[in-house]
Amino acid sequence: MSDRPRRRPTRLASRFLLYYALTYLVLLGLMGLVVERSTREALIDDVVENLELGAKLAAQSLPEDAGGYQGWARGVFDAASFRTTLITADGVVLADSHSDPAVMENHSDRPEVVEAFRGAVGSASRFSASTGFEQLYLALPPEDDLIVRVSVPIRVIDDELSAVRGSILLAALIVGVIGVAVVAVVARRTSRPITELTEQSRDVAMGRLDVSPRKSTVLELDQLGEAIATMARTLGSRLGEAELARTTLEAVLGTIPQGTILIGGEDEIAYANDAARQMLGPMPDNGAALAPLQLHAPVSEARASGRAHTRVFDYGSPTRRIRATATPFPADGRLLVIAVDITDRERTDSIKRDFVANASHELKTPVSTIIASSEALQIALSRDDESAMVFAGRIEESARQLSRLVADLLDLSRLERESPELAPVRLDLIALDEVDRLKLRAEEKNLALDLEARAVTVRASHRDLAIAIRNLLDNAIRYSGTGGSVHIVVGIHDGSAMIRVTDAGEGIPTRDRDRVFERFYRVDSARSRETGGTGLGLSIVKHVAESHGGSVEVESELGVGSTFVVLLPLAEG
Ligand code: ADP
Repeated sequence: MSDRPRRRPTRLASRFLLYYALTYLVLLGLMGLVVERSTREALIDDVVENLELGAKLAAQSLPEDAGGYQGWARGVFDAASFRTTLITADGVVLADSHSDPAVMENHSDRPEVVEAFRGAVGSASRFSASTGFEQLYLALPPEDDLIVRVSVPIRVIDDELSAVRGSILLAALIVGVIGVAVVAVVARRTSRPITELTEQSRDVAMGRLDVSPRKSTVLELDQLGEAIATMARTLGSRLGEAELARTTLEAVLGTIPQGTILIGGEDEIAYANDAARQMLGPMPDNGAALAPLQLHAPVSEARASGRAHTRVFDYGSPTRRIRATATPFPADGRLLVIAVDITDRERTDSIKRDFVANASHELKTPVSTIIASSEALQIALSRDDESAMVFAGRIEESARQLSRLVADLLDLSRLERESPELAPVRLDLIALDEVDRLKLRAEEKNLALDLEARAVTVRASHRDLAIAIRNLLDNAIRYSGTGGSVHIVVGIHDGSAMIRVTDAGEGIPTRDRDRVFERFYRVDSARSRETGGTGLGLSIVKHVAESHGGSVEVESELGVGSTFVVLLPLAEG
C-alpha cells in the first residue's frame, strides 16, 4: 500500500478551480442534453402546429379541377415554403410541389397517410428520397377522398436549435467565467488565512510562542487558529516546566558530592557536574576522550552487558581512591557514570579497624596480668607466702588500668556519638576545679601546680572541657619528674579563649609531636602504662577542642618540657 506513488500536492486554489470546472462541465453537459431535448420537442410541436395550420389553409384553396392540382401544390410551397403533396384514398399521388406525381410511388403505406386515413392528423419524420433530406410530414384526414400532406425539412428545426444552442453556450461561457472568478476569489480568501496559520505553526515549531492568529470569516479556520494559539501556550508552559526541571536537576546534581557524568547515545558527554570536574579534571566532548582511562572499563562493560558495572581505582595527585559505577539506561544508548571519592571512607574504615585492634591489644595486657597474678596469688595464698600481697597489688593495679582504659574508651565513644550540649561556662572556674582535683597528685610528686586565670566565658559542654583539662594536667604531672612544675594559664589569645598547660617534664621528640594526638599513640608505651596512661588522653583533648570549633597544639623540647595550647571560640556578648 505504501508503494503506491503519492500524488503531488496541489494548491488549494487550483484544486478548487479543478473541482469547480469538472462539476460545471458535467452539469453543463447534463443541462445541455435536457435543454436540447426539450427545446427540440418544443420546436417540433411548433412546426407540427404550423404545418397543420398551413395544411388546413392549403386544403381550403384546393381547386375543383384536377388539372389545377399541380399548380396549387407549387403555389402553396411558394407561399409557405411547405412541400405540398395531394394523395388519393388509394395512395396515388395527384400533385407534389417538388416532384412529378407520375413518377412518384404509391404513398398508402406512409405512416402519416395511414394515420390520416384513420381520421386523425397524421405526422411522421423520416428521410425523403424525393427531397434528399430528413423531412417532417403532416397529413390531414381525407376530405372528398383526398389527403393534403405538407412537410418541411427537419433541418429547419436543427437550424433553430443550433441558434438556441449558440445562445446557451454563450450564456454558459459567461456563467463559467464568472464562476471561475468567484471560485478564485473564494479560494484565495480561504487559502490566505491557511497560509498565515501555516507560518504561525512554523513559528511555534521554531520556538516563537507569542502567536496570535488573526480572526477570519471562516469558523473552522478560527477554530484552527485558536487550537494553534492554545498549542503555543501549552507548549510554552511545558517548555517552562521542562526548563525548570532541567535547572532544578542541574542545581541538585551540582550540589551532590558524587561526580555525575551522562554519556549520550552518540558517545557524547551530555552532562557533567562540578564534582565530576573537580574529581576527574576538565570534561572532554566525547566519551572516548574521557579521563582517566580506568573509567573506560566500567563504561564499555556496562554498554556490552546492559547492566551496571563498577571499578575502583587510584587517581590523581595526591592519590585519591575513586569508585566509578556506569549504569546503562535500558531505553536508549545513554549511560550514567557516578564517580565517588572513597579515600576518606576507606581511611575511616582503616582507622576503625586499627582502633579495634589497638583497643583489644590494650585490654589484653592488663587482663593477662590479672589472670597470671590471680593464679600466682592462689598459689601464694595456699603456701601462705608473703608474695601474695605483691600479686594482689598487681591485680589491683591492672584492674585500675583496665578501669581507666574503659573510662577513656567510654568518654571517647560518647564524644564521637554526641554533639556537645553547649551552654555558657566559665573556663577559669572549670580549670580551678580540675587543679583542685589534681593538687594532691602534684604534691605527691613534689610538683608546683599553679593556675593563672582570668574570667573567660565560652559556649561549651562543661563536662567535656573538664575532661580535656583533666587529661592535659594529668599528662603534665605524669610526664614530669619529681620537683618540677606545672603551670596552667586561662585567658584570651588573639580573640579566642585559651587554656595553656606548661610543664618542665621530659618533653616529646620532634618526630612524635604530630602523632601524639592519635589514638593509642605513645612515645614510650611502657612508660605510659607505668604511669597509668591509656594512650587515649590527647585524642580525647583534640576531639573536645575540635567539636567545640577550636584547636589544640603542642610545643615541646626534649628534656625541657612541653606546652599544650587549646584555643576555643569565645562566647558572644
Ligand atoms: P597517655 O595515656 O599514654 O599519656 P596520651 O594520649 O595522653 O596518652 O598521650 C600520648 C603520648 O604523648 C604519651 O604516651 C606521651 O608519650 C606523650 N605525652 C603526652 N603529654 C605529654 C607531656 N606533657 N610531656 C611529655 N610527653 C607527653
